Amino acid sequence: ILAVTHLEKSFGDHQVLKDINLQIRRGEVVTIIGSSGSGKSTLLRCINLLEQPTQGEITFHGENILAPKFDITTYRAKVGMVFQSFNLFNNLNVLQNCMVGQTTVLNRTPEAAREMALAQLEKVGMTPYVNAKPSQLSGGQKQRIGIARAVSMSPEVLLFDEPTSALDPEMVDDVLDSMRALAHTGLTMVLVTHEMAFARDISDHVVFMDQGVIAEEGSAEEIFTRPQKPRTQTFLKRYL
Ligand code: ATP
Ligand code: MG
Repeated sequence: ILAVTHLEKSFGDHQVLKDINLQIRRGEVVTIIGSSGSGKSTLLRCINLLEQPTQGEITFHGENILAPKFDITTYRAKVGMVFQSFNLFNNLNVLQNCMVGQTTVLNRTPEAAREMALAQLEKVGMTPYVNAKPSQLSGGQKQRIGIARAVSMSPEVLLFDEPTSALDPEMVDDVLDSMRALAHTGLTMVLVTHEMAFARDISDHVVFMDQGVIAEEGSAEEIFTRPQKPRTQTFLKRYL
């Protein structure tokens, strides 16, 4: 569904991504792990076109997303993103946050958008808060709304950049449970996380990044149980 080929990204003369090659197949959960600064967020941001790659190709259903005439707005509805910092609209209530993209980008009627939003909010356990403003919610609640909002757009792929790393520990499980439920619906997910037990549990494919390259990749079993590369072994030891 998504293919990244020979992707490179530099900021000035600092090369952050080097020859990244990655296939994301329909229904797969792909997890990206690696040390701080290894380029995980930059890779997700390139896939979502929040950053312009310096070189290489990204295709979505075989179509080059870097082509000049490519429709980025429609693409971002199909390939959604859940951010570490939630990025909710603070002036809108919870329900409105989950409706606005649907009515403006997907041209859904307010009734259809509302119905979809309510259904997704229910799945993440946020029905009692539909009229609340983001400022009245905990971090974990905000993130579950971020997920409901992203899913309300009926994406084909959802990207998650450390969705639980800004949360207090007691909030993390609720968000992980919501994500696990989503993975079980067959949604294609690309996830950057430091939650190794969770990654091991839900990932079909795990990518270990180190200094801008994919140093090792494989099934969850391969990466977590018998990593081959010393760099991967050293990284994972920190989580034991
Ligand atoms: P973390 O686990 O801390 O989130 P990461 O793997 O997501 O790290 P990135 O955020 O992708 O790492 O950053 C990779 C490198 O790119 C870092 O050295 C960072 O300083 C640099 N970088 C990222 N964004 C920019 C930018 N907009 N301008 C300049 N340098 C950047
Ligand atoms: Mg990051």
